Amino acid sequence: MACDFFALAAPGVRELTPYNPGKPIEELKRERQLSDVVKLASNENPLGASPRALEAIENSLPNIARYPDGSGYALRESLGSHLGVSPSQITLGNGSNDVLDLVARTFVTPADEVVFSQHAFAVYSLVTQALGARSVVTPAQDWGHDLAAMQEAVTARTRLVFIANPNNPTGTWLTRARLKAFLAAVPEHVIVVLDEAYFEYVEEPEYPDGINLLALFPQLVVTRTFSKIHGLAGLRIGYAVSHPVIAELMNRVRQPFNCNSLALAAAQVACADRVHVEKSRAINKQGLQQLTEAFRALGLSFIPSVANFVCVDTGCFAMPVFEALLQQGVIVRPVANYGLPHYLRVTVGLAQENTRFVQALRGVLGARGEV
Ligand SMILES: *Cc1c(COP(=O)(O)O)cnc(C)c1O
Repeated sequence: MACDFFALAAPGVRELTPYNPGKPIEELKRERQLSDVVKLASNENPLGASPRALEAIENSLPNIARYPDGSGYALRESLGSHLGVSPSQITLGNGSNDVLDLVARTFVTPADEVVFSQHAFAVYSLVTQALGARSVVTPAQDWGHDLAAMQEAVTARTRLVFIANPNNPTGTWLTRARLKAFLAAVPEHVIVVLDEAYFEYVEEPEYPDGINLLALFPQLVVTRTFSKIHGLAGLRIGYAVSHPVIAELMNRVRQPFNCNSLALAAAQVACADRVHVEKSRAINKQGLQQLTEAFRALGLSFIPSVANFVCVDTGCFAMPVFEALLQQGVIVRPVANYGLPHYLRVTVGLAQENTRFVQALRGVLGARGEV
């Protein structure tokens, strides 16, 4: 008789729904015999990586037989001086998802509760469930986090709160004043993770830099990534900035070689390449405007976003629209799993990619009588 492996799995794992990633370009080409595919589905940088980062990767190739520096010394030094923090405050991860998982594994037990918002990034519930802890999900306010509701949801059992600023998939954001008021009210037994994966894109004057809040709120853990504006999603590298004792604890849980040598080398150069970041931010700003103007012209509403993606209301169940767009070689992201069944999340691409998407969308919705 075959083993019942399902029954053997940890209780939290039995109930997990796996993360649903954006469809890879090659998969769509293979499945539908398409040659020209546009992917606006995973919030990647349409410009790619910094040319200097690519050069650093090439220069690292001869050392590929060696294990990477498990402490990530050089990258933590560079990041430390770049961010104005001590390297002892930095924890490196295999993408910032790895860091989100590390924080949870460091602090959360099955007896604990983890608070996050409706429509928040999917990884928060995944890491919580995998540990067998309880997810406490607060209702959203205008699609974003309702910090008052989150504050009320904190109990003696709460060990962790996840806040995404801006949030994915909604692109909503929190002001400095609101965030500070929340942090000031959080009891000492709660660790607050502030996920700033899209930090570099935001230009709102009231948008807070989480790292500046660390001195005031020591239980804060700020996470950032090289996957988004830095264009290194395929290399998997991200980091947390926190109190050094939190960093030291997470370091105990971290796998010894969780970041590969090519990623370490590329990230070290990427964080210093202001030109590439500026250029990426400027292109995104134009592209976001291009997309939202097109939505207005089509009479479609959307969730105002400060990031490199935007959720558009298709006016109907979005899954068939997503499928029809795939047929035209355009990959976007359905977000029904985020409680937004009528929306599609679209990553801001280059002008010609945005145009291709808008034309395909107009065709699909026009055929359905939606626009
Ligand atoms: C993309 C994203 C991340 C990080 O992704 P990594 O590639 O693992 O660094 C983290 N948080 C949010 C909200 C994101 O959208």
